[in-house]
Amino acid sequence: MTELPVAHPIASPQPGAAEYPGLDAWRDLPVVQQPTWADSEVHRAAVSELSSLPPLVFAGEVDLLRQRLADAAEGKAFLLQGGDCAETFEGATADKISARVRTILQMAVVLTYGASLPVIKMGRMAGQFAKPRSSNDETREGVTLPAYRGDMVNGYEFTPESRAHNANRMVQAYHTSASTLNLIRAFTQGGFADLRLVHHWNKGFTANPAHSRYESLAREIDRAVKFMDACGADFDALKRVEFFASHEALVLDYERALTRIDSRTGLPYGTSGHFLWIGERTRQLDGAHVDFLSRVRNPIGVKLGPTSSADDALRLIDKLDPQREPGRLTFITRMGAGNIREKLPALVEKVTASGAKVLWVSDPMHGNTVTSPNGYKTRNFDDVIDEVRGFFEVHHALGTFPGGLHVEMTGDDVAECLGGADPIDQHAFLERYESVCDPRLNHMQSLEMAFLVAGALGKRP
Ligand code: PEP
Ligand code: MN
Repeated sequence: MTELPVAHPIASPQPGAAEYPGLDAWRDLPVVQQPTWADSEVHRAAVSELSSLPPLVFAGEVDLLRQRLADAAEGKAFLLQGGDCAETFEGATADKISARVRTILQMAVVLTYGASLPVIKMGRMAGQFAKPRSSNDETREGVTLPAYRGDMVNGYEFTPESRAHNANRMVQAYHTSASTLNLIRAFTQGGFADLRLVHHWNKGFTANPAHSRYESLAREIDRAVKFMDACGADFDALKRVEFFASHEALVLDYERALTRIDSRTGLPYGTSGHFLWIGERTRQLDGAHVDFLSRVRNPIGVKLGPTSSADDALRLIDKLDPQREPGRLTFITRMGAGNIREKLPALVEKVTASGAKVLWVSDPMHGNTVTSPNGYKTRNFDDVIDEVRGFFEVHHALGTFPGGLHVEMTGDDVAECLGGADPIDQHAFLERYESVCDPRLNHMQSLEMAFLVAGALGKRP
């Protein structure tokens, strides 16, 4: 089956089309990685329903995030962005969501201490339901079906019914995002994020003998928390944290239908999440994704893999951030541990020389995917850490700021990535490999990464 770009009828009325006709310019541009919806009536109905549903995020929050990211681009904050490779409808349970938020908060406390900077907390959550794929099809035992493209498009189950692209799934993705975001907001505003509680959880991590090498850092944090307490810090205020939602803006029907014109500013905002990123496979300069995202006010990320040239980066800046607005553009580099020290310097140097102020973030996952001897898609914890170290080394050498981490992680005790201090080996995959797409760091590996990166940020050995 070959992938055909869909001729997208505009399911009218698309929000803001009259004021901003450019929001639909992408429909005439080359577009890749889009679903081929089977039934156009269903498709039209789903798009018009999405067009009239309330926004998931508020423009004021999006503006606040842009300011926070501007701080990070200037070296005054650090971004932690984490979550599943692919969220699933089935996985949107209270237990799994709370474990993921909890793990991100735990990592953030350690990183805040290591960096002595505020950490911007952001989930790959409440919208990460669509996946780009390198092949349109998947063959199992002689049967070929469309590849799984994320729950927003089709089901993971390997049957013709499940793998058919179904536009109604976009509506379900919206509702699942809404309930996920609702729980995240409740947790992060309602007491779950209390610094003392999060610190207490981290003490549990270092109590494990496998993690004893991190005890001294945990003790330092303990003393800092006690010191704050003795000074009369307002721990009640520290019960609430800002938490932002992000996902890859892949399915343009969905993103376009959830675009709204903000009544305060009169400008278009993508309201499916606070931060939207363009993936490595959809960042074509003249393609639909770059065009569409150039027209919304959200902070935008772009993944940059090992084939990215400095010229690509400069042209992306011209398209996506022509005003050179602080916080608007984040480059998420995913070069691979073996490439980062060689490929990143030229990009950073030329972008810096151009005067643009982007935020540089490391995704140490996507350049380090391998297949285990027993056939699972995996990543070695050591490679992941090595790419982060390379990212820091390059920025330190150039005098630029390594502004954040983008990781695929979960709060659950899964076995998908190899290694770590309490090591996972490939045999554990048979029982505890749950991801429907890329392998994630489990709860322990995620915390270990935070302790290692905090050490590097604080320039400890
Ligand atoms: C992802 O973030 O899951 C992804 C597909 O990344 P990339 O676009 O960098 O390959
Ligand atoms: Mn992934």
